[in-house]
Amino acid sequence: MALSGLAIYKHLPKENCKECGLPTCLAFAMKVASGQAGLEECPRLGDDARSALEEASAPPQRLVTIGDGDPAVAIGQETVMFRHDEKFHNPCGIAVRVDDSGNDSEVDQRLSSIKDLSFERMGRTMAVDMVAVENSSGDTARFTETARKAAALDKSVILISSDPAALKAAGEAIADARPLLHYSGGADSLDAAIEAAAALKLPLGLQSPSLEEIADMAEKAREGGLQEMVISPGPGKPAEVLEFLTKARRAALKQKFRPLGYPSMAFAPGEDDAAIVAACWYVLKYAGIVVIDTVEPAAVVAILTSRFNVYTDPQKPVQVEAKIYEINEPGAESPLLITTNFALSYYSVESEVEASRVPSRILAVDTEGTSVLTAWAADKFNPETINEALVKSGAGEKVSHNKCVIPGMVAVISGSLEEESGWDVEVGPKEAVGIVSYLTSRWKK
Ligand code: SF4
Repeated sequence: MALSGLAIYKHLPKENCKECGLPTCLAFAMKVASGQAGLEECPRLGDDARSALEEASAPPQRLVTIGDGDPAVAIGQETVMFRHDEKFHNPCGIAVRVDDSGNDSEVDQRLSSIKDLSFERMGRTMAVDMVAVENSSGDTARFTETARKAAALDKSVILISSDPAALKAAGEAIADARPLLHYSGGADSLDAAIEAAAALKLPLGLQSPSLEEIADMAEKAREGGLQEMVISPGPGKPAEVLEFLTKARRAALKQKFRPLGYPSMAFAPGEDDAAIVAACWYVLKYAGIVVIDTVEPAAVVAILTSRFNVYTDPQKPVQVEAKIYEINEPGAESPLLITTNFALSYYSVESEVEASRVPSRILAVDTEGTSVLTAWAADKFNPETINEALVKSGAGEKVSHNKCVIPGMVAVISGSLEEESGWDVEVGPKEAVGIVSYLTSRWKK
């Protein structure tokens, strides 16, 4: 949370020595508040004042990064309870649990299934991005071996154990992959778990269904030198898990309660419908990581779609690039359909064109991501903007005919578009669902 200039000024030495390059401490405070100067530029700032300022300006929820490089998952640093108030910033990680008590071929098969859990939606790839290896075997060597296999999958890794020594051994073996060490034991061995995470410089997961206990554990870990933590109620009834997630988020964001200012992790054990629904709930409210058991693609895609939807910016419509898209390998005589660059409009048209099997081109006009009728009403999808898109995309050089097809919803602009562009304008179906029959029976170049 940003501090005001006056709040910063209260902590400064107030000596007006000018060593920071500014005439007064107040001027320096204003520069820091606006992000144009850093605290390190004041050589006279004491350690206490510096740490007080750093603490006060820290975000209410920490950012925690699990993984290294490309497969890294950054979670937390959320700022609002409700998406429509701003947006949710860092998409939660979706982790599939791998039980290390299975035999080699069971573990290999499960990891292979996880690798395949990747889907395309509205031009983007949605995939499971984490593997949670659980030390159910109680065997440290087995746990470490499974951790190594998980790390080779190019996903971020969570190591789950109630045994700090097992966490340390497996964490050390894959330290380069920067796993989350999730300590699922009680307070008795907490010190050893904190020491393991601190020694390996890895984030630590803490588990208790009690918010009070989790807050105490997090404070202890912070005093032990850890900054990156993930809090979890562990497996539980969905209503109780949701209560934990909601209260923790509210305490961090609304009451600025630092001991709960960490992203959370929820478990949705089981492979039945109830587990899938619970996982979707946890994605929406307010898990930073959701650990699931299922590798059933239809179930996983539902969970990934929940994430995709809730982490889009509600103030920015999902858009596709404004350009010509070629579907079914079109030739020069293929039809040219026009729509807007609102993702839902474009993909509705694209899927119908694909289904028709008629080689075609689709020109997505830049309407700032608004749908056909909205863009037309806002004067963003009009003869001038469409003609501009036709020229800019080089549509005339790609086809041997002079005909374009506009959505039936805006039939009213067909005449003026012909005058503006010189193209023959055909009026297509009002809804995308009519495109197959239009292309297969009505389209003639
Ligand atoms: Fe004030 Fe520090 Fe700048 Fe000196 S260096 S004027 S004490 S802010």
